[in-house]
Amino acid sequence: MPYDISHYLDLSLPDAEAQWRSVLVREEVGPGENQVDYLPVETLLCAAGMVALGHVSYGSGLATKGPTPIPELARLFRRRRTSITSKMANLEGGRSRGGKSDQRLWEALRDDHGRLFELYRVVLAAARRTGVTPQQLPDFLELEHSDAFELLGQDEIDESAVEVAFRERLDQHREDGSERPSERQALARVRIDQHRFAKAVLINCGWACVFCGFTLEDASRPTLLRASHIKPWRSSDDRERRDVRNGVAACPTHDAAFDAGDLTLSDDLEVVTSVRVASSSNPAVRLMFNAPFLRPHIAMPGGYVPRLDYLHWHRERIFLS
Ligand SMILES: [Zn+2]
Repeated sequence: MPYDISHYLDLSLPDAEAQWRSVLVREEVGPGENQVDYLPVETLLCAAGMVALGHVSYGSGLATKGPTPIPELARLFRRRRTSITSKMANLEGGRSRGGKSDQRLWEALRDDHGRLFELYRVVLAAARRTGVTPQQLPDFLELEHSDAFELLGQDEIDESAVEVAFRERLDQHREDGSERPSERQALARVRIDQHRFAKAVLINCGWACVFCGFTLEDASRPTLLRASHIKPWRSSDDRERRDVRNGVAACPTHDAAFDAGDLTLSDDLEVVTSVRVASSSNPAVRLMFNAPFLRPHIAMPGGYVPRLDYLHWHRERIFLS
């Protein structure tokens, strides 16, 4: 049955479930046999996989190396890994024999990541309802359980940050000789990395402000908490930007104060305030930046304490003293 683009973009949960049921009873394709056409749930997961992988070239080398989610998708769909990478190449429009409908789908989704992430969640929910386990199909974009449908940690990303990330990726691709990514792909990558970072930091901090304990019980709505980089995003390299030990969760006030240098942390994780805050006579400032409201020490319930070099960086370059 031929699918048009609305079968993808308007995929409903019952349709996705029906498609999964037919995928799950599929037999392995023998050598030389034609494989069955891709169903929308499969194609959409390939598209989501392209975002997860960042920009790579979808040749046979990638199929051999097999980073997640390529082997998982191949196993689940009863297809060869090269079939998955070819599908990705088709979507991207890199193959002259590739179907035009795949290219149109990718053109619609690469401009609208919100849509792609929403569809990814529908496909994943349908998979779980038909018995596909997280071992068989890991939540490779880490979006399955973010109830408030919003990517966390996006407020730190402004246009100049994307430009920086884009230029860095261009340099990297120049070095390893692979194809250059588009600005959109760089942006998608930055968004996903930020979302993962924010989620890991919030979990590590027990979903509460490390400075005052502020939290909202209803996590299905915006929590108001921010995941802040200790060494700022702009000054960090790729690894540091993703490092959970480079993050603290804070309420909006303490987050802003930490970024502005009115709050910092000692090596023993003691909370230190700037002179202008400590000497303020304003009642609100006195309340929010003194005990018992402000904690003397911070704790990381998740166990990943901040790395000392990030703390040094913050004290030396950000803190107003
Ligand atoms: Zn706070």
